[in-house]
Amino acid sequence: MQILDGKALSDTIKIELKKQSDVLGLSGITPGLAVILVGDDAASQTYVKMKEKACDSAGIYSIIHKMPSTISQEKILETITMINTNPNIDGVLVQLPLPKHIDTTKIIEAIDPKKDVDGFHPFNVGRLVAGLDGFVPCTPLGVMRLLSHYTIDVKGLDACVVGASNIVGKPMMNLLLNAGATVDICHIFTKDLKEHTKKADLVIVGVGKQNLITEDMVKEGAIVIDIGINKTAEGRIVGDVDYENVAPKCTYITPVPGGVGPMTIAMLLENTIKAAHNRLV
Ligand code: NAD
Repeated sequence: MQILDGKALSDTIKIELKKQSDVLGLSGITPGLAVILVGDDAASQTYVKMKEKACDSAGIYSIIHKMPSTISQEKILETITMINTNPNIDGVLVQLPLPKHIDTTKIIEAIDPKKDVDGFHPFNVGRLVAGLDGFVPCTPLGVMRLLSHYTIDVKGLDACVVGASNIVGKPMMNLLLNAGATVDICHIFTKDLKEHTKKADLVIVGVGKQNLITEDMVKEGAIVIDIGINKTAEGRIVGDVDYENVAPKCTYITPVPGGVGPMTIAMLLENTIKAAHNRLV
């Protein structure tokens, strides 16, 4: 069994991205990322802080637009319009979830697709589905990068994606399909989850339910990628996979923490640098 070390790979990627920022700097370009953070959700605040720190390390200028949870949708849209037209900002992301009175779809659709470094805008979703270049959501992109770093070719593999959200499961499914895997996608209404996971060469789970994937649900020699983030009663961060019992059966597995999480942030930086390169054309 080999651990897929997302922390180590993300550190290497950040060093490479810093070099790319430095080269952009020679053309007078400092890549810029604007983040919109609404409300005081503790997890969102932590993620935004991590993103800010990572931007610093990669030579990316970042600005956080902090707004109270009572902010109107109009004000958020105004801020997005301002960012869309700011030539010094290459990427914009809206930290989700947003408060209930805000229409998340309207907010995402207001982002300029060329600055949509989270890859959530329908324009970029469509390009991903069609197999065209665009911005791809950071978490599934990070999974693909981790697999390719360890020379795991998904072509011809039977893959099972568990979780079908717009930001994790669905783009993961499309990336795998585009790379030649045969993909099963499961969700809350799947009749018999084990029937799907058990036959897969590659199981990718992003649900948010501790111990959802147990040893009996995974075949011998499988590759297991755990995207889930859960806090135990003792305050430990764990994934969706019963790691201790599943890992001995796997050829490869990601740990939580230290697997997909750091790769997600590295891909956000990479997407921002990619957007900054558009200033050169
Ligand atoms: P979500 O709530 O939007 O979607 C969860 C998905 O899981 C849904 O499709 C739902 O149908 C499915 N699901 C729920 N219960 C299920 C069950 N019992 N069996 C099968 N499927 C079930 O969540 P999300 O935003 O997609 O996030 C999923 C998980 O991934 C969360 O733990 C989140 O914290 C984590 N996450 C991690 C990263 C990272 O960088 N590592 C990034 C984003 C999300």
